[in-house]
Formats: sequence, C-alpha cells, structure tokens
Amino acid sequence: MTKILTNLSKIKEQIQAAQKRANREQDNVELIAVTKEVSVERTQEAIEAGLVHVGENRPEGLKLKIEAIQADVHWHYIGSLQTRKVKQVINDIDYLHSLDRLSLAEEIEKRANKPVKCFVQVNVSGEESKHGLTAEEALSFIESLQNFTKIQVVGLMTMAPNTENETMIRSVFKQLKQCQQQIAERGFAHAPCTELSMGMSNDFEIAVEEGATFVRVGTALVGNERGEQDEHEK
Ligand SMILES: *Cc1c(COP(=O)(O)O)cnc(C)c1O
Repeated sequence: MTKILTNLSKIKEQIQAAQKRANREQDNVELIAVTKEVSVERTQEAIEAGLVHVGENRPEGLKLKIEAIQADVHWHYIGSLQTRKVKQVINDIDYLHSLDRLSLAEEIEKRANKPVKCFVQVNVSGEESKHGLTAEEALSFIESLQNFTKIQVVGLMTMAPNTENETMIRSVFKQLKQCQQQIAERGFAHAPCTELSMGMSNDFEIAVEEGATFVRVGTALVGNERGEQDEHEK
C-alpha cells in the first residue's frame, strides 16, 4: 500500500470513531484532501485512492491541478480569495470556503455563471492573523446576501486557534456550531446553512465530535512535499 492509502484508511477510522463518540454515526462527514503543499502526481494519487473532494488555497495551484487531472471530483477553494482573482477560479470550483466580505460576494455575483456553494468564514477565536467575520457579524452579513442569485450559503467555516489546548479548540468548534444553528433556524432560501467546515490534520477528530460535516485535511493525508522526502519512493 502507498502512504496515502494507509493514511486514508487511518483517517477514515478516526472519523468514524469520533462520530461514534458523538452519536453522529448517521451523519455524513466529507473528507477534503487539501493538496496545496503537494504535486499534481500526489494529488492524482489521492484521487485514485478514492478521495472525491480536493481543496486548494491559491488560484495558480487550483488551475494547475484541474487542468492536469481532469477528474470528476469536487474542487474546493479553501484560502482567502482576493476580489480581483475571483474570475480566475469561480467557475472552476464547487465550493468556496472563505466568503468573508460583501465586496467578494459582489464580485462572485458578477462573475459566476451559476450559483456557487459558499461557506461563510467565521473567525471564532478572534486571532488577528485569521480571516473571517465575528460570530455576531455572520448573521447580518448572511442576511445582506438575500438578493444575490449566485451565492448559496451552505454553511460556516472556521480555523481553530494555533494551540495545543484542546479545550480552547473544542470551544471554537462549539461556537461555530451554535452560530450555524442560529442561522439555519432563520430558514433563509439562499442560506440553508446546514454544513460545518472545520477540522484540519491536528484537530479533525475534535471537529467531528463537535459537528463537522466537512473536514479539511492536508498533511496527515497527503503529506507536505516542501520539507519531506517522497515517502513512497524510498
Ligand atoms: C492548509 C489548510 C488546511 C489543511 O491543513 P493541514 O494542517 O495540513 O491538514 C485546512 N484548511 C485550510 C483553510 C488550510 O489553509
């Protein structure tokens, strides 16, 4: 077995175990392979291993992989997106995880050929270095998108703080879920807001316990070719 297959089966088991602990066995938890740090070849390998959700965080990386791979997978854009780069990516992706401002929504409205599934990014932890709205701002922001025909708010996305403190991480995920439920209760046609994009290599099990429906895993799944030797070629 290659490294990716080994990693994948371990991560799947971890997700299932976390679902079990949280009594969420009936829920769908989708695994997004974050391939931003790896080559086209390794991305291809991940897809051959059975992954159907692939995430990139730069327009260049996304284009490179979509053009080289041409597979029937769902492409996710997970990074912060500059308004002037919207046109480069918006009609290539199935999901945008980083909707965080009106100017971005307006540009999507102008450039998209069809409705785009968007996660509104929330900076629950309030860390300066992170993008996203506060939980308080998220509801009014989503309300203001009602007349946008190209934006479908499928859920909320967050990144946990950079810490080993599990209690803090868990609290961030809990707050995102509360915020998501409040918005979902409003029953907006343009914002069903049923999904939660949270959890990365170091914290996806906590995220699943707290309600994640999409986890975004890079390093633990496909590795990181910047500082690493190519494991399966050794
Ligand atoms: C890089 C990245 C990930 C994956 O991070 P890992 O720690 O490698 O799993 C997930 N989400 C976002 C937004 C990222 O930029």
